[in-house]
Amino acid sequence: MRHCLITFASISLLTAGTVLAQHQSTPSATAARTASGSWFGVPLPAGLGDPHRPILDVSAIKPAPATVPPGEEKFGDLTGAAVRKDLEAIVAISRADRARGEKAWGRITGFRAADETHAWVLEQFKAAGLRESQTQTYLATQATWYPKSWAVTLLANPNAGAGSRDVVLESAFPTSGSQLPQGPFSAPLVFVGATTDKALPDADVTGKVAVQTLHPQAGAFSERTRTTERARELARRGAVAVLNVIEQAGNMHVRDFSNCGVPCFNLGSDDGRFLKAVMERAGAAGVLPELKVSIALATEMRPDLKGHNTISIVPGRRTDEIFVVNAHADGWFDAAGDNGDGLAVLVALARHFARPEHQPERTLLFVASGGHHGGGMNGPGNLVTMNPQLTSKVVLVLNLEHIAQLQFRNDPFRVDATEQPMGFGISNEAPAIADIARRGVQRYGFALRPNFSNSTAGDLGGYAPLGVPRVQAIHSGPMYHTSGDTLDSISTPGLERAARFYAFFITEVGQADRAVLQPR
Ligand SMILES: [Zn+2]
Repeated sequence: MRHCLITFASISLLTAGTVLAQHQSTPSATAARTASGSWFGVPLPAGLGDPHRPILDVSAIKPAPATVPPGEEKFGDLTGAAVRKDLEAIVAISRADRARGEKAWGRITGFRAADETHAWVLEQFKAAGLRESQTQTYLATQATWYPKSWAVTLLANPNAGAGSRDVVLESAFPTSGSQLPQGPFSAPLVFVGATTDKALPDADVTGKVAVQTLHPQAGAFSERTRTTERARELARRGAVAVLNVIEQAGNMHVRDFSNCGVPCFNLGSDDGRFLKAVMERAGAAGVLPELKVSIALATEMRPDLKGHNTISIVPGRRTDEIFVVNAHADGWFDAAGDNGDGLAVLVALARHFARPEHQPERTLLFVASGGHHGGGMNGPGNLVTMNPQLTSKVVLVLNLEHIAQLQFRNDPFRVDATEQPMGFGISNEAPAIADIARRGVQRYGFALRPNFSNSTAGDLGGYAPLGVPRVQAIHSGPMYHTSGDTLDSISTPGLERAARFYAFFITEVGQADRAVLQPR
């Protein structure tokens, strides 16, 4: 089905001002999918398509160029083109992982593509002339759930119309912890409404596969609690599996939610649109009890995985105090925005400050961390315990995470020619740090929301024991943890805005007195 695509124009994506859907149709494929009376005449879903392309066509989206203050034109390591080249190299590692046959591809800690990412970062640090560069390795403290293969298939049924053959719902992605030790099964379907409904319907779900919908405004994580709690309740009531239809755009894999109690899968919008319409029409025709899905899922628990932190030191004019600049190196799927952009900017900043003319005031410790997405493998936590001689000198930690994605929005699903607004968090809310960030926003147009907070949700948790200010900008937009988090979903001027903003921030904060950074 991957090579046989139709548009998903039928689900109101093509309103005025909305860019065209990316998945293009061929006339014969469209005819084959809609002409017959199969599946009550409901158009078949488009399949997963090419998951390395963005879910919406962004080719006409041109964010404003980066602002380059006089004197900074020569900062060649920080241009959008330079940073994007590195982002391409990082995303290529994920693409190769999928090309090797990984269904749950990505730069996933403990697996080959993550190891390759760390090798790449180390090569960049060394090529920048940074001699104190190394990759440190640590062991996972718990086993990792690994989905090997799966399929969610609506089974052929003659009462749904002639030619109603099996339809594989290609966007299906198992939620973390799902297992099916007894092997594949098939079961009838029951629709149980939206996660925002006040209560579950009074329907018998025993022995059935329950289908629920969610409509996140930001990333799917924003519906995490409701979705998971509802799935667990359905499991308690006897459902044998739960399908979460995530209403965003097209068909994406969404890797989110965990421990539903029964095997649980996320479905993309287009598979969900098809499944719901078929269930409705089957209900009207009185044949819903005959409709069945089959579910297959092979998983493993992998013990003893290894995580890595790749670190590099840029000596400052003073070496008694250290700033940490961190970016997590791992990610699901192509992970261009979570966190390929942060990692590419980290490498750019290391190159920039490695140049003698940009020697920083305080020593910089660059960290490409592992295990952000892997349980029991937290990179920052391991870095702190493995390097006491370094971490005792740390006075501030800056985290680069999700910093240059285009702004995707729902209702209707669309993309704007600007970057996703980011929340800026300063753990101790030091006014001097906030002031430097505000000046940086004015100077470069970096897309921070105006109200800063003390939130450090992201990769900063492992640094908490250091007791120093921790700072980051971050967003969790609709592409978060999806296969839609692709290279072309990233704004190249946004990469430059981020790189220049952070170079300014590091320079300015580097000159601030410690008492100002951490007032008592
Ligand atoms: Zn992240």
